[in-house]
Amino acid sequence: MSPAAVQCIYHADIMEGAMKKHRISGLEKGRDLSPVISKSRLIIIGAGFSGLSAARTILGAAGDRVEVIVLEASCEVGGRAKSGKLPSGTAVELGATWFHGICGNPLYEIGVWEGLVQDTRGNPDLSQFEVDWHVDFLRPFQDQLLNGRSRVVAEEALERFQESALEMSEDTQAPDISVGAFLRRKYDEIISHDGLCSEDLAAFAESWQFREKQQRSFDGFFCADDVSTAFPREFETLEGPNLPVQGGLQGIARSLAAPLDVRFGHQVTAIEWGSGGVSISCSNSSEFEADAVLVTTSIGVLQAKHLDMFHPPLPSWKQLALSAIRLGVVDKIFLEFEVPGGQVDALTHHSPRSPPCPEHPEVQTAGQTLVTGEVWNMGRRTGPEVSASAVAQATTAVMAVTERCASACVSSSTIVSSSTNAAGQSKGKVAPSRRPKQRKSIHTYAFMWPVPDPRQLGMSGLTSSICTATDYCTATAQQQLPGGLLLHPGEGMPFSDLPTWLYGLHSIRFNPGPCWIEPSESEMYDMRRDSGQQVKEVTNNESSTVGAVLWITGDSALEMEALSDEEVQQGIMQLLSTFPAIPVPKNAKLPPKIVRTSWGRDELYRGSYSYLRAGVEDGEAIDILAEPLCAENGFPVVMFAGEATHRQYPGTAHGAYLSGFREANRFLASLDRQDSLVAWSLAAAAAAVQHLEPESQQQQQQSSSASSIQRQSSGRSLAA
Ligand SMILES: Cc1cc2nc3c(=O)[nH]c(=O)nc-3n(C[C@H](O)[C@H](O)[C@H](O)COP(=O)(O)OP(=O)(O)OC[C@H]3O[C@@H](n4cnc5c(N)ncnc54)[C@H](O)[C@@H]3O)c2cc1C
Repeated sequence: MSPAAVQCIYHADIMEGAMKKHRISGLEKGRDLSPVISKSRLIIIGAGFSGLSAARTILGAAGDRVEVIVLEASCEVGGRAKSGKLPSGTAVELGATWFHGICGNPLYEIGVWEGLVQDTRGNPDLSQFEVDWHVDFLRPFQDQLLNGRSRVVAEEALERFQESALEMSEDTQAPDISVGAFLRRKYDEIISHDGLCSEDLAAFAESWQFREKQQRSFDGFFCADDVSTAFPREFETLEGPNLPVQGGLQGIARSLAAPLDVRFGHQVTAIEWGSGGVSISCSNSSEFEADAVLVTTSIGVLQAKHLDMFHPPLPSWKQLALSAIRLGVVDKIFLEFEVPGGQVDALTHHSPRSPPCPEHPEVQTAGQTLVTGEVWNMGRRTGPEVSASAVAQATTAVMAVTERCASACVSSSTIVSSSTNAAGQSKGKVAPSRRPKQRKSIHTYAFMWPVPDPRQLGMSGLTSSICTATDYCTATAQQQLPGGLLLHPGEGMPFSDLPTWLYGLHSIRFNPGPCWIEPSESEMYDMRRDSGQQVKEVTNNESSTVGAVLWITGDSALEMEALSDEEVQQGIMQLLSTFPAIPVPKNAKLPPKIVRTSWGRDELYRGSYSYLRAGVEDGEAIDILAEPLCAENGFPVVMFAGEATHRQYPGTAHGAYLSGFREANRFLASLDRQDSLVAWSLAAAAAAVQHLEPESQQQQQQSSSASSIQRQSSGRSLAA
């Protein structure tokens, strides 16, 4: 047999991932060569979507040829995809909430495959699954929603903001250095042309300020001056509706983790790395050795810990890339109002819409509907779908293990259009559904915090340079807000006495909404089958609850995180009396119970999602962050994944997933390169022995090359 033919056979074996076929003992007359092609070992740090996707991809492609251990510091999988429970037992999303676009979204594909989420893809009109956004405006100390002309102006501001953001994403000629600088310029242009009277200007500025704060919480910015315009320019949005995740996003993480070796309570504190592999130490004193490590911790953890963690330290090019990216802080505060006697019908939060604008009957207040999604997608170009084959491969790698249907899933191009298994069924109990659905609507009550000097908003005001609530308070104090606003009418409560973090809150939303987790498709199937038992349980309740959620960002979020639960609860009570038009159910018990997140102070995250800092011209830093640290022979010893390493989809769960898939393939490709070289050399040598051919000079060369690779390979194995 020619060496080339042997090489082909071994390649085929490697592709099948059958380790035993590499054991060529016997061919070489009693000499056991199994240690030569040793089992590789990869440690993955973190069981968020990036770590789980890497582990599943390797398991699917290499089987037990690679030992993969996932070290997770906490006691659960999912990372920033985290479900929680309110005091009533209602399930909510504490972290990631949406599929941001479903076309080409691998997590959506997996959700459908697992029977967790409804399969909407075959539906000719995907827009019916989009969520409608409605905004009502609340002014301090006013017990009515903003109405009339001011409301129309406030809505106009939202539209102008949206147009400006869109323009920013297309402004490739002379991009501003920061999002703040761009928005400031646009604001100045708008108010100088529009000749608004002072009352209109106030409404315009307050609404613009709300929208800018809201955008900060969608994208996690500390402040608009801190963000490069390259960030919205480079971010790509997946096609298709943004959908809340039935059953919760953490459910998808759990299904990914099922067949994996995840070691909980293993917080990695040190990584020693070099050409021989890696040694890893954990805070619980356990130690691991491996050929390579994949680090998937958040960039906040990396920034805070890399000096202590990496030995030798990260090279300067990697450290530079780390400093170009920042992890924003976004928190949610859930309120739960108990309404005794189950009289939730008395709720006012679905109050009738305010009457149309009397001065401008031509302008329908139905224009309250915003057509924005809950991402910066109005300011970002919509990318082509993720390469269909990439998603299909990523999904296939996962499903191959789940269903042992590797052969059925290998022709992956079909997976994107239909995630059915070989039998044409989705894995869950529910077949792909085309049942029509009513568009969901999300109602946002926006806080119109007073703006010290609306004419100055663009020049020096809140859009950018005033990033923190403390700055805001200083500015309002210095500029002396116009009469009345500083005092709560009737009660005389000084406006300036409000805790500063409250100014970071931009709006409140009531349940139902995307943060409240709806049952998964298979749970709904069970409920329907169990003849409405669930419905009965709810209506029999003696008391019911109404939920609401507030989002808070940046320094205000960090300030809130530092407070006790009682202090936050007290602040919320002050907020409720500052904005009396917040439609709290009339008979609700006060204060509401509170559940809140602390993503910024949590040492396992140190923030929520990443963005490019102002001054950075493009997303190259993200690519550099994703580059591995390699041994002299090019083998990637330390690899990096995680949402912050994905240039097109940073800050998203699907970006995290695809980054793990990318690194798994990097690792597998390196193994294949290395092992096929070893296999080729050994097979050639073995063939020579078997055929008892006289040793030619050429075969002598092959033997010596095999032993030199053996040294190299066992160098890595020694470290393992
Ligand atoms: C409030 C919020 C809302 C969001 N909303 C959305 C949304 O609607 N849609 C969307 O697509 N995305 C959303 N995201 C972003 C999305 O959640 C993240 O991009 C994604 O989950 C990140 O996954 P990851 O694997 O990169 O990191 P992580 O999920 O952070 O996983 C890293 C893991 O590493 C572990 N870890 C940390 N340090 C160590 C250590 N030293 N040793 C061992 N383990 C360690 C952590 O415990 C964690 O489990 C949101 C995030 C937040 C916080």
